[in-house]
Amino acid sequence: MNIEQMIEIYPQRPHLVILGAGASKDAMPDGDANGKPLPVMSEFISTLNLTDYIGKIEGVPKTDNIEDVYSWLANQERFVDERIVVENEIREYFSNITLPDTLTKYDLLVLSLRQKDCIATFNWDGLLVQAYQRMQKITTDLPQMVFLHGNVEVGYCPECKTYGYWFAKCHKCGEQLQSVPLLYPVKNKNYQKNEFISEQWKILEDFISKAALITIYGYSAPKTDIEAINILKKAFARLGTPRYFDIIEIIEHPKFDTKNISEAWLDLSEMARDHLELRRSVFDSYMFRSPRRSLEFLHKNRIASSWWGESSIKFTQEDINEDKISALETKILPLLKNEDSGNPDVI
Ligand SMILES: [Zn+2]
Repeated sequence: MNIEQMIEIYPQRPHLVILGAGASKDAMPDGDANGKPLPVMSEFISTLNLTDYIGKIEGVPKTDNIEDVYSWLANQERFVDERIVVENEIREYFSNITLPDTLTKYDLLVLSLRQKDCIATFNWDGLLVQAYQRMQKITTDLPQMVFLHGNVEVGYCPECKTYGYWFAKCHKCGEQLQSVPLLYPVKNKNYQKNEFISEQWKILEDFISKAALITIYGYSAPKTDIEAINILKKAFARLGTPRYFDIIEIIEHPKFDTKNISEAWLDLSEMARDHLELRRSVFDSYMFRSPRRSLEFLHKNRIASSWWGESSIKFTQEDINEDKISALETKILPLLKNEDSGNPDVI
């Protein structure tokens, strides 16, 4: 592909967003609808009230990090029962995490992308799925979703390899979907062992290999996720043509130290001519600065022409403060109308 062709197809390429636990925490800093906190790995055990139970297991590592504890447990045959208790507690906790009635960053995130795009989440909680259900009332042209470590609100049909809401029936054969496993936090994760999870990773690889913009939101690519990172890097290298205009965008909390940017992201950005951009807030991301038009925005802004403008339609903290789905719908209506007539311009 020559450079003119690359410029021409650029806006049609996917935007991929990868979510980690930091995204759920950012969207719900005060906890879920019932005030239940969204834990990150390092404070997981105390958040789930498992400190006493785990503390009684003989020889267990003394830490609040579930990855260290669970990896250890998974290697101890004498503690199979204890491991199952911990697994059940994790599933139970995340099954009860509920989106508040008020609008959240997750709602805006889902609405900010289109069907050609994808949100891949490492999170077990069902917040993304719940936001998706709400935003479907505004439009059905929403991004694909991929669940890299399984999810409490997703069901799977092993016959047809379809997936959807856990309570739904398969749209192909009509059978009730089966709940999917959660991939628990062992250090050496096996993404091939379970069919559903392995299928999810294939979809992710496909998106990574084609995406022109990859936004990583609240996922720090810990060294223990080495297998995941290797898959990401390999898939990213698969495009075959130089990624002259491609961008890796990282959203981290305001106190995030740039020295802590994962080597995994530095490696990816090296393949994309060092186009690495760090955001301190999701509101500064391309998807919120130009909802449903992130790649069209970049195309207009720096690739096909040097337009220094901004989109007139943005998602801001005001949308959350105002907390009206109807207001959000009114805001993006001009974009939806243009989409209906096949016009994806930035307005
Ligand atoms: Zn089926």
